[in-house]
Amino acid sequence: FLEEEPDGRAQPVQVLVVKDDHSFELDEAALSRILLAEEVRDREVVAVSVAGAFRKGKSFLMDFMLRYMYSQGSDDWLGDPDDPLVGFSWRGGSERETTGIQIWSEVFLVDKPDGRKVAVLLMDTQGTFDSQSTLRDSATVFALSTMISSMQVYNISQNVQEDDLQHLQLFTEYGRLAMEETFLKPFQSLIFLVRDWSFPYEFPYGQEGGMKFLEKRLKNQHEELQNVRKHIHSCFTNISCFLMPHPGLKVATNPHFDGRLKEIDRDFISNLRILVPWLLSPQNLDLKEINGNNITCRGLLEYFKAYIKIYQG
Ligand code: GDP
Ligand code: MG
Repeated sequence: FLEEEPDGRAQPVQVLVVKDDHSFELDEAALSRILLAEEVRDREVVAVSVAGAFRKGKSFLMDFMLRYMYSQGSDDWLGDPDDPLVGFSWRGGSERETTGIQIWSEVFLVDKPDGRKVAVLLMDTQGTFDSQSTLRDSATVFALSTMISSMQVYNISQNVQEDDLQHLQLFTEYGRLAMEETFLKPFQSLIFLVRDWSFPYEFPYGQEGGMKFLEKRLKNQHEELQNVRKHIHSCFTNISCFLMPHPGLKVATNPHFDGRLKEIDRDFISNLRILVPWLLSPQNLDLKEINGNNITCRGLLEYFKAYIKIYQG
């Protein structure tokens, strides 16, 4: 059930690309190979997306999520302090920044505490927000990933800015328009993940500090942004927030840094140890629901194709 590289390892697969002419391309064959693999196709699915702008540490985080998934149940999932970090490519540089969605080729099977074996899909959603046209492309991609995922981690830098909220409103507006009329909230869990949080004395790192911060942040808005807050609450069943510390200067600035734990700030690592199981431990995984029903990998593929059609229109 792997989309294999020549050497047989799992890898990120670009399943959705926005091209220069703003058209969308879905790699249906690749997506089918992943979601219709025999071991997973009839399993109920948990789809975890990490979404946000380029160069904000998404891939870096996802590589730790992979470590967690690959070492299910083990206490030392963070691994050896000297191991370079591998998986979703990070550090940018050589590779072109493509607005779109990447999926990890290996779908993980996890036993939920109630005995169900579920399939877990990891997605990397990225875009740019620097011009009108890239904003529209990105909004569409984010809307798609929000519709497809059961857990949307919105990765943002330093704070929750008004821009971040307006972008979020745009994504969810696009998404909501595309969904069928339903009395249920169209989306599931939204997790604001604030990177490089630098006011831990005001709001401590982690989820509790994050929730308090988010409540305050959403209250302190100008009047026109109050609608954003209402809108976000009307779209998602669960909203939470996690404040992450800065990983240290080696991570942020040293071009030779290869991701080894030894060179990452201790505060960052201790919060990573909380964040990743908080997102991905078996009891915390939210199954994908559409109109109140759990969806299998096979079903998710059909929805993916249907949603894309709406935007190709
Ligand atoms: P992505 O484009 O969002 O996937 O970002 P990457 O994961 O490729 O990371 C971009 C750069 O940011 C790399 O040089 C990382 O070492 C660095 N980085 C990773 N995590 C963080 C973080 O939490 N804070 C800061 N300031 N830099 C980070
Ligand atoms: Mg990346």
